[in-house]
Amino acid sequence: MKALTKSEKAPGASMQTKVMPEPRANEVLVQVKITAICGTDIHIFNWNDWAAGLGIEQGNVMGHECVAEVVKLGEGVTSLSVGDRVCIETHIPCRDCRLCHNGNMHICENETIFSVHTNGCFADYAVVPAICARKVPESIPDEIASIMEPVGVGVHAAQIGDVKGKNVVVLGAGPIGLFSACASLALGAKQVTISDIKDTRLEVASLCGDFQLWNPLKTSAYSLFDTSASASGPEVIIETTGSNRAVSDILPYLRKKGTMVMVGLFPGDVSLNFSQDIIFKEVTIKGVHGRIMWDTWELMEKLIQNDKLNVQPAITHRFKLEEYEEAFRIAASGEGTKVLLRP
Ligand SMILES: [Zn+2]
Ligand SMILES: [Zn+2]
Repeated sequence: MKALTKSEKAPGASMQTKVMPEPRANEVLVQVKITAICGTDIHIFNWNDWAAGLGIEQGNVMGHECVAEVVKLGEGVTSLSVGDRVCIETHIPCRDCRLCHNGNMHICENETIFSVHTNGCFADYAVVPAICARKVPESIPDEIASIMEPVGVGVHAAQIGDVKGKNVVVLGAGPIGLFSACASLALGAKQVTISDIKDTRLEVASLCGDFQLWNPLKTSAYSLFDTSASASGPEVIIETTGSNRAVSDILPYLRKKGTMVMVGLFPGDVSLNFSQDIIFKEVTIKGVHGRIMWDTWELMEKLIQNDKLNVQPAITHRFKLEEYEEAFRIAASGEGTKVLLRP
C-alpha cells in the first residue's frame, strides 16, 4: 500500500510503498476513504521543535483525521463489523486508569495518540485500536465524517464553555476556531464574534454562520468592546490561536464571572495580568484537549444530523494523497482551511 511517511527526522515527508499492516488483538484494519490535514500534521511535516519533541519514530505513517471502512477485525473485536464506516478518535485510552474509569478517557493517564505513537492514516490502509474506531451515522456524508475529529474539538470547547444565551468571542478562524464558532451558534450562543488577522479566513467563516467578523489588525479590541462599558464584552472567550498577544488583548474585556476556554497550544510561557483580569473578576479558565469520549461525539453527531453545524464551507481544498506537497503548502499558508487528501 502507499503511505505518506515521516521518512526522516527533518522537514518534509515521502510517499512510500509499505506492506499492508495486520490488525492485532482488539484492533481493526480500515481502508481509508478520505483524510484531512490537521495543524499537528503541519508541525510534524515542518518538523519544528514541538513536533521533534513528540517522540515520533522515523518511518511513521502520518495523519490522523479520516473516514474509513473496516475491512478486517483483529482477535476479540466484537464492537465492529467488516463494512462499518468509521472515523478515528485519536486519543487512545488505556481503559484501566483512574481517569479512564471516571469518564475522562480522553485525557487518560497513559494516553497515547494515534499517528504519533502509532502509524497514521495518510495511507491506503491503517490499523486502529477498536475502541477508537467510531461508527459514523449513515446520514453523515464522507467529507463531513473525515473532519469530525477536529469538529469535535470545537464542539467540546463550546460544550464546556456553556455558551447558551451568551456573547461568545472565538479567537482564531483556523479550523478549530471556526468549528468552535459553529458549535457555539449550534448550542445557542446569543452572539458569536470570530477573529483572525487573515481576511481570507474570515471570509470562509462568513459562509459557515452568522458571525460578527473581527480582524484585530484593523479594529482594536478597545473599539470593539469599549472598556468603559464592560457589560458589552464577551461572557465566554474560546481561544484557539496560541498567541499570548491575542489573549492579553482581549482578557480585559471579558465580563466578570466570564469563562475563558483554552484550546490553542502556545509555543512557550504566557504572561497575563492575573490580578486584574482573572482574580478580581472571578474568571474561570478551562482547558480543552480532544473530545469527551463519547459525550462530545454523540452531541456532534446529533448537531450535524439536525443541520445545526454548518461546517461544509470549511472544506476549501481537495487533493489526491500523491499531491501532498501542494496540499501541505496550502494548509500551512492559511490559504486553505480544511484540506482533504484522497488515497
Ligand atoms: Zn487533528
Ligand atoms: Zn487510562
